[in-house]
Amino acid sequence: MRVADALGRPLSNLRVSVTDRCNLRCGYCMPEEEYAWLPRDQILHFEEMSGLVDVFLDLGVDKVRLTGGEPLLRRNLPELVRQLAGKPRLRDLAMTTNGVLLAEHARALKDAGLHRITVSLDTLHPGRFPALTRRPAETHAQVLAGIAAVPAAGFTGTKIDTVAMRGVNDDELADLIEFGRTVPAEVRFIEYMDVGGATRWSMDQVVSRAEILEVLALRYGTIEPLVEPASTAPAERFRLSDGTTFGIIASTTAPFCRSCDRSRLTADGMWYLCLYAVAGVDLRGPLRRGATREELAALITGGWRGRADRGAEERLVARDRGPLMQIGQLKRDPHLEMHTRGG
Ligand code: SAM
Ligand code: SF4
Ligand code: SF4
Repeated sequence: MRVADALGRPLSNLRVSVTDRCNLRCGYCMPEEEYAWLPRDQILHFEEMSGLVDVFLDLGVDKVRLTGGEPLLRRNLPELVRQLAGKPRLRDLAMTTNGVLLAEHARALKDAGLHRITVSLDTLHPGRFPALTRRPAETHAQVLAGIAAVPAAGFTGTKIDTVAMRGVNDDELADLIEFGRTVPAEVRFIEYMDVGGATRWSMDQVVSRAEILEVLALRYGTIEPLVEPASTAPAERFRLSDGTTFGIIASTTAPFCRSCDRSRLTADGMWYLCLYAVAGVDLRGPLRRGATREELAALITGGWRGRADRGAEERLVARDRGPLMQIGQLKRDPHLEMHTRGG
């Protein structure tokens, strides 16, 4: 069964946040040191997550991405991967990580059946890492070791995600592509978004898709867009003359809400239909009260059929655009945070 929302978009892609905790403090996501964390007794057990994923699979989801917070902080993550990888209807099981703990876990994740890994990496310079993440420059070496461990464990289809920020890392775009070639991994540049914990966001820090292409054309000459009509992926992909590909996720200046088939499950079982949504659907409550698979399916189907969210597109028309959220709001409801929703 395939469920379509109010704008005809299918329910096919689920991001599962396995924890809201993180070992970095990226300025665009977690600019504070301390946060209001989700209560531990409300965090879903793996069996609960796996059971909910089954209901989503019944309704047409075929791609799941594990995220967080930092997913590798969740103890025994390979066990969850094993439970999910055993589901034949799941075509794609991926994970997004900051890479810090990846060197020690890559092999076990591969053995458990994880298909693909995306690592977030904003700089190649260890000296820039502390300002970006509030963690020591030495941690950067752990991230690079984590990235190296991905192909060594046998993964292919690896991606590196970079948030491009003016005056921070916009001089590294071509270097990151060069680095990606050596991994090998496809680099995707993400426009800085004004969502969740990005309380210090401003439009002048956003390096737009157009600027990214301009800078890369200076170094590489002609850049050819790849035509991928069937793709609902947020990244537009491009090819350099030597065949190297890269992507741009223009969430801020050219959002792709019209084809968005993504929803998000938080570690405590709240389901969000848009990254910008202020309210979600509580699935933990019914699950723990013993709701049947059919009852959960009805709840999810009803939610998705009513979905008309186009959060990023609506932000385009905002005048004097500034951060979407203030720190006070985020403290009152941590579910509004990017690190709770899983990005
Ligand atoms: N901790 C993991 C990581 O960093 O890869 C997974 C969770 S993180 C919330 C997922 C992605 O969201 C990361 O690639 C991060 O760069 C991105 N992200 C967080 N805040 C962002 C913002 N304000 N604008 C654009 N991307 C953002
Ligand atoms: Fe950075 Fe990811 Fe942690 Fe957010 S959740 S602070 S993007 S590592
Ligand atoms: Fe999808 Fe909402 Fe992001 Fe638009 S803003 S692409 S609808 S999650």
